[in-house]
Amino acid sequence: MDKLAKLALLGESAKYDVCASSSATPKRFQNAEIGRTAPSGVCHSFTPDGRCVSLFKVLLSNQCEKDCLYCPNRSARDVPRSSFTPEELAGLFMEFYRRNYVEGLFLSSGVRHSTGRTMQELLETLEILRTRHRFGGYIHLKILPGAGEAEVERAIALSNRVSLNMEAPTATHLARLSRTKNFAAEIMGGLSRIHRHLRDQPGVSHSTQFIVGAAQESDRDILDSTLRLYSSYGLKRAYFSTFQPVPGTPLDSIAGSPLVREHRLYQADFLYRYYGFQMAEIPYNSAGNLDLDKDPKQAFAELHPERFPLEINRASLLELLRVPGIGPRSAKKIVWLRRENRFRSVEDLARIGVVTKRALPFILVAGKKYSSMLGQAGLSRSNYSQSSLWGDDA
Ligand code: SF4
Repeated sequence: MDKLAKLALLGESAKYDVCASSSATPKRFQNAEIGRTAPSGVCHSFTPDGRCVSLFKVLLSNQCEKDCLYCPNRSARDVPRSSFTPEELAGLFMEFYRRNYVEGLFLSSGVRHSTGRTMQELLETLEILRTRHRFGGYIHLKILPGAGEAEVERAIALSNRVSLNMEAPTATHLARLSRTKNFAAEIMGGLSRIHRHLRDQPGVSHSTQFIVGAAQESDRDILDSTLRLYSSYGLKRAYFSTFQPVPGTPLDSIAGSPLVREHRLYQADFLYRYYGFQMAEIPYNSAGNLDLDKDPKQAFAELHPERFPLEINRASLLELLRVPGIGPRSAKKIVWLRRENRFRSVEDLARIGVVTKRALPFILVAGKKYSSMLGQAGLSRSNYSQSSLWGDDA
């Protein structure tokens, strides 16, 4: 197979690894011929310093000795297989980089022969790039579950970001997706090794990915697990990827999850990371899931009428961040600007970026209420429960 045929196959095979949230993925003009970069292995991601870069996203190999039940590359599936050599892949990447097609690399692989040998090939690719080609740009490397201490340490030394996929929030859930992955030793052990070695490399971050909707897990299972990773494993980012059945795999009869579920998980994750919410404040229904029809911040506000309306000229930053329609930037502007002048009208708020249509039912402006939250609130308290910090099953 020539290099371009390999690229078509291994670029396509890499599309199941996520390096940006669903909201960053263009959904329109899916059938266009020009400008669609995903099939040829190019995606976009944000570097740790916030820059958006185009990444060459590819597998070193789609051969895999493992048999994960959802995976298009699982060993038992009859599909064309191919692999790059480290030399080949490094050369191809540099060719694309010099032509300005891409700015960085997102590299992953199936487990060819063994975890140790595949990790060595991945690391060799990065060594060639960093030393022979003197490439100093962005590299995101997927570390394979079960990678050893020395491999993790070297991967971190050569990368800007590393990740290891959780896939499922607990051992019980993972057992429904894979008979060949060991949750405690390979996944949690790997994340723990990454966390340890990252302490010596402050410029490098790590992320993980969950498959959503294939293992009968609830949103609370996923978010509780995510919080553990943030607080105890130094995780920078969690990605949520809705399960879509792949024909010819054992899970191909399970219905795919709606994309909106992934979106709600990202919204709840943002509430925790940027809005000062405690996980215990995220509203779930009795099955432990987020409302698909309503963003979780709106659901929280409707569930807590005792907290609203808030006087915009007096509310604290944390209180403002709990008002639908007020984001971190506009909340900070409100606190800053009212040191000099009181807010007197709805227009004053609209001018600094508040989505007044959403915010008005929950605020007073200079003592005046512009809209009632009654009637907006489609929820009753009985529909929702607040989670305990770690959920009921921890
Ligand atoms: S380890 Fe599992 S998920 Fe990864 S490529 Fe192999 S079969 Fe697919």
